[in-house]
Amino acid sequence: MKEVYPHCPVCGEECEHVYRESGTDTYLGCENCLEEEDAWNCAACFPDDE
Ligand SMILES: [Zn+2]
Repeated sequence: MKEVYPHCPVCGEECEHVYRESGTDTYLGCENCLEEEDAWNCAACFPDDE
């Protein structure tokens, strides 16, 4: 009997967690195709920084 594992709708990899845009049915990816970054180290999070 073949077990069926969940697969990410974005990258197709087997995954344990998928990330969904809050309040929508839009899936952004899973732990394989997304990575978390500390916002304090992300220049894009400080668009007005000089
Ligand atoms: Zn994925």
